[in-house]
Amino acid sequence: MLMTKANRPATRTLRGWAICMLQEAGAVRECEEHGWIQDRADPHARERAFEMARHAAPPGVAAEAAAAAIADVLDGIGDTCPECPPVD
Ligand SMILES: [Zn+2]
Repeated sequence: MLMTKANRPATRTLRGWAICMLQEAGAVRECEEHGWIQDRADPHARERAFEMARHAAPPGVAAEAAAAAIADVLDGIGDTCPECPPVD
């Protein structure tokens, strides 16, 4: 198996896949400096992410499990990067 270090993390896990969906929907963003995923607190983008997850679940993953993975990621992240200095 060829192993390469890609800039974008592979979507090997359901969590990784969920993060990709959330990024595509614009529900989360990644800190450019530290790489932390942050919640953008945009309810419309969240809704889009759930829709996308249900309709484009990975092979072998039920639509509900895919949606649950999205909810899981949203649950586990904050709306700020823990390493960035706070801005006001
Ligand atoms: Zn940061």
